[in-house]
Amino acid sequence: MSKILIVGGGYTGFYTAFTLQKQLRRGEAEVTLVDPLPYMTYQPFLPEVASGSIEPRHVIVPLRRHLKKTNVVQGKVVAVNHAKKTATIEPSAGKSYTVKYDHIVLAAGSVSRTFPIPGVADEAIGMKSIEEAVAVRDRLIDNFAKAANLPKCKERDRLLTVTVVGGGFAGIETFAELRSLASSMLTQYPELSIEDTSFHLVEAMGRIMPEVSLKTSYWVLKNLASREATVHLDTQLLSATGGKIELSTGIKFESDLIVWTAGVMANPVVRATDFPIEERGRIRSSATLQITTDDGKVVSGAWAAGDNSAVPDLTGGGVGGMCVPNAQHAVRQAKRLAANIIAVLRGETPVNYIHKNLGAVAGLGVGYGVFQSGGFAVKGFVAWVMHRGYHGLAMPMWERKLRVIGDWIGQLFLGRDTATISLREEPQAYFQAFASRPAK
Ligand SMILES: Cc1cc2nc3c(=O)[nH]c(=O)nc-3n(C[C@H](O)[C@H](O)[C@H](O)COP(=O)(O)OP(=O)(O)OC[C@H]3O[C@@H](n4cnc5c(N)ncnc54)[C@H](O)[C@@H]3O)c2cc1C
Repeated sequence: MSKILIVGGGYTGFYTAFTLQKQLRRGEAEVTLVDPLPYMTYQPFLPEVASGSIEPRHVIVPLRRHLKKTNVVQGKVVAVNHAKKTATIEPSAGKSYTVKYDHIVLAAGSVSRTFPIPGVADEAIGMKSIEEAVAVRDRLIDNFAKAANLPKCKERDRLLTVTVVGGGFAGIETFAELRSLASSMLTQYPELSIEDTSFHLVEAMGRIMPEVSLKTSYWVLKNLASREATVHLDTQLLSATGGKIELSTGIKFESDLIVWTAGVMANPVVRATDFPIEERGRIRSSATLQITTDDGKVVSGAWAAGDNSAVPDLTGGGVGGMCVPNAQHAVRQAKRLAANIIAVLRGETPVNYIHKNLGAVAGLGVGYGVFQSGGFAVKGFVAWVMHRGYHGLAMPMWERKLRVIGDWIGQLFLGRDTATISLREEPQAYFQAFASRPAK
């Protein structure tokens, strides 16, 4: 039986394993998936988790529940020696070990790209994981509660100031969703007004959201401005030390919540392999999703897709000729990749991946959104409904889809959920405070 090893159980890894387990014949291959996390995360929903519109656990898919015919290993792949067809796994418990494989799939995704800006590492929170999205949500809600106890002062201003760095899709969605959450919470806090809150987005380029037309991006800027949210274009963050924000325009303010969304880069684990890496740090793939050498020769038994790979975009629409790193490509590449592995196992020829971009849709807080496909754009409420419709259907697995849709219906009738349980980070605090100590 051939052994297939999948590195990463995110969008690409999950769908590769899911398709393989559906399409492989009995006894044809054994599939193992390794990921340090027990779930895949539907990252497009992280901004809505941060804004309290969706319950956090509903946007993650437990791997073992849905990959019943796959060996799921909770751990990290830390090295790959394809010359020997071995991979080293560091499990979440126990000693590292080496496994042999016949086919490997690199699907380790991307990580937040950071720059050495003073204070960012200590103060900022990213927006790539469910844990980060929940921490952002809880911080904003808790800060409202703290600020409501204070008279107008510097500390109160700081608690009510949110800064998002990066004006790409993820950054703008996060910023707009947090603004939406803050505005809706004001009804619960008669002590606070919208003028007491400050929202700043910092973007180094002269525009936001490169995925939509300039005209649509202007509409987003205008919409945010009308909702008391400031976007600083052509501006760099110089320092965030101690929460004291210094911008390249000379503007300074204090901010208790700083969210970093200034881009992603291929997961550095790809460098712990003996595969060639291209100039942007990604693994080179052919259109058949097989890893290639620098001169384009296919490496037998090696596959890569998703954010950690440079896959040619045969529609001619990609950036630098390559597919852009997004979920739209990741899911379709995964299904093609799985079908291609099966083709190779059966002595057939793998087929090229080709997918024409469907456009981009963004949610900008309850009631606002944008959709862009070529020159066609939809803005406002209709685009927001399209955003929920598209992502509601794109969420993997019916049991997960229904949970998310249930959250939205609940929100419609009951309002968004602003309950926080941030004290979960100190679970023993209550117990230790009240548990009786043995007499000495
Ligand atoms: C906030 C946000 C919003 C987004 N919105 C959209 C959107 O609206 N539309 C869209 O198309 N795309 C969107 N994206 C992008 C999309 O989510 C990604 O392109 C997609 O998740 C990429 O899939 P992937 O499988 O390559 O990586 P991931 O889904 O990130 O999966 C990588 C997996 O690899 C695992 N891993 C990491 N290191 C190791 C290791 N050493 N060993 C084993 N496993 C490892 C990780 O734990 C993870 O599970 C968004 C992203 C973010 C962050």
